[in-house]
Amino acid sequence: MLDIRIEKTTSPKAKPADESKLGFGQIFSDHMFIMDYSEGKWHDARIIPFQNLSYSPGTAVFHYGCEIFEGLKAYRTAQGNVQLFRPIENVRRMNNSAERLCLPQMDESDMLQAIVEFVKVEKDWVPHTEGTSLYLRPFLLGIDETLGVHTIQKAQFIIIASPSGSYYPEGINPVKIMIETEDVRAVRGGTGYAKCGGNYAASTRAGHKAELQGYSQVLWLDGVEQKYIEEVGAMNVMFKIDGVVVTPKLLGSVLPGITRKSCIELLKDKGIPVEERKISADELFDALRAGKLEEAWGTGTAAVVSPIGELSYKGEKYTVNDFKIGETTQWLYDTLTGMQWGKIEDNKGWIVPVE
Ligand SMILES: *Cc1c(COP(=O)(O)O)cnc(C)c1O
Repeated sequence: MLDIRIEKTTSPKAKPADESKLGFGQIFSDHMFIMDYSEGKWHDARIIPFQNLSYSPGTAVFHYGCEIFEGLKAYRTAQGNVQLFRPIENVRRMNNSAERLCLPQMDESDMLQAIVEFVKVEKDWVPHTEGTSLYLRPFLLGIDETLGVHTIQKAQFIIIASPSGSYYPEGINPVKIMIETEDVRAVRGGTGYAKCGGNYAASTRAGHKAELQGYSQVLWLDGVEQKYIEEVGAMNVMFKIDGVVVTPKLLGSVLPGITRKSCIELLKDKGIPVEERKISADELFDALRAGKLEEAWGTGTAAVVSPIGELSYKGEKYTVNDFKIGETTQWLYDTLTGMQWGKIEDNKGWIVPVE
């Protein structure tokens, strides 16, 4: 059990008046959770007014990217309750990411407690409009004041929160995706499975190039042969081919998404076969040309499920399912968002109520 000191702000900010204009990650709530690590121990857990942080320019995180993060949401139900979706999965993934970057890990129940207690303090910041949520961003950074490259001895774990708008204000919409054939995001043995800032720094260039050409995100190929499909930007990817859902297997370079895991469980419960395996771009386009690629979609906390309407590969454009939302895609979206916003019963034990 963490002993969390709570210091409330004396100058609370006005809550956003127009929840239809929230966007993503632009405004922050009144408080932040912060906890220090030094001499082998986590200590001084506190929730304090949201404020700037001050570090020496010689601090490790600025030079060597020793930073990991998580992303989850607090949802408000129609009854006004606030709830989380599988937060223990974020806690475990954060510890796995920490292990990969030699950052200190944390007791699972302590981290969960930190998230829940922080959301309790910020619960009035969870917006009310359909499809909106309070996005939570836990992160952990190495703050040793040295340019020497060593295992981190001093760290901080912080949680901030940002009220965020509906990802699909005009309803769920297919996106255009470009398959990246030059840059790679990750390789086996690297940090692909860790949610670390450095992975994003490395993927910005391809994302920017895709955006300039009118695509919303890139689809990454494996870092060795550039042949097998990995994932889309900040989402995992699934294809329905001839009645079977195929998704790249987690072999170390793909981020193990919680939405991915949840979709696989829901599909299997419904009796839809799921294969976690290697799938090459060639196999995908063969299926497409043979009329067997029924649906394609991305999965991630931000958009939940995002239908893919167009794929571009080596300059060729391919339309998927006539740029329409497939039946399975829609069902996954409705089921997951139904549970998250409390519209349908959670028979999986995935929902954690916050008081
Ligand atoms: C966070 C993330 C995902 C999606 O994970 P969820 O737990 O479903 O939100 C997928 N790919 C990358 C690279 C990510 O950072």
